[in-house]
Amino acid sequence: MVNIILLGPPGAGKGTQARLLVERRNMVQLSTGDMLRDAKASGSPMGRRVAEVMDRGELVSDEIVIGLIGEKLAAGGGGYIFDGFPRTLAQADALARLLERVGQRLTAVIEMRVDDAALLARITGRYTCGNCGEVYHDVTRPTAVPGVCDVCGSTDLRRRADDTEESLKQRLLEYYKKTSPLVGYYYATGDLVTVDGLGEIEAVAAEIAAVLEGQGD
Ligand code: AMP
Repeated sequence: MVNIILLGPPGAGKGTQARLLVERRNMVQLSTGDMLRDAKASGSPMGRRVAEVMDRGELVSDEIVIGLIGEKLAAGGGGYIFDGFPRTLAQADALARLLERVGQRLTAVIEMRVDDAALLARITGRYTCGNCGEVYHDVTRPTAVPGVCDVCGSTDLRRRADDTEESLKQRLLEYYKKTSPLVGYYYATGDLVTVDGLGEIEAVAAEIAAVLEGQGD
């Protein structure tokens, strides 16, 4: 089974590419950001605890996200896309242990490289469908009919509470301080592949497909 990590700063396009891989390769997207937003929306004790941290653009504790991923992996299977996880070296170590426990291993870590100037424009314009998760952008990818999802017709279009300029600054700091060391780490393990995240969605998808080619899924 192919199991990959999508690694990159906020706005690099990890979620968009993960959705395409789910659609086209039947893979399973595991986004800790989505899981945490669900917890926040449900108003559970854990959701209430993480809400403020997320809105400020800081990382939530390793313990919480490792717990969330552990629960998903316990079900067995494979074909996972880790989207937004791991974000610290401790999470990377935990992931290796969790995968080993279920007889899986990492196929590749795909670093999506983009420059910071592009990120602000991407993030401050983005919105998603609350029903089906399709991702849009005010300028580069608006819905065909304003306020209506192209894919499912829902009018529940949402912006993330942390997609503000101020929160992005903090999320970038967190990325460079805590997550970017993973680039060096996975380079050393031989798992790292870097793709140009600035291209068109389909161009990036083709680069990722080329990485997965011949990996025997
Ligand atoms: P994302 O949707 O991946 O951009 O994540 C949104 C927010 O959820 C992040 O800014 C963090 O506050 C939190 N978060 C998501 N994944 C993780 C993780 N692996 N470790 C720590 N915090 C996370």
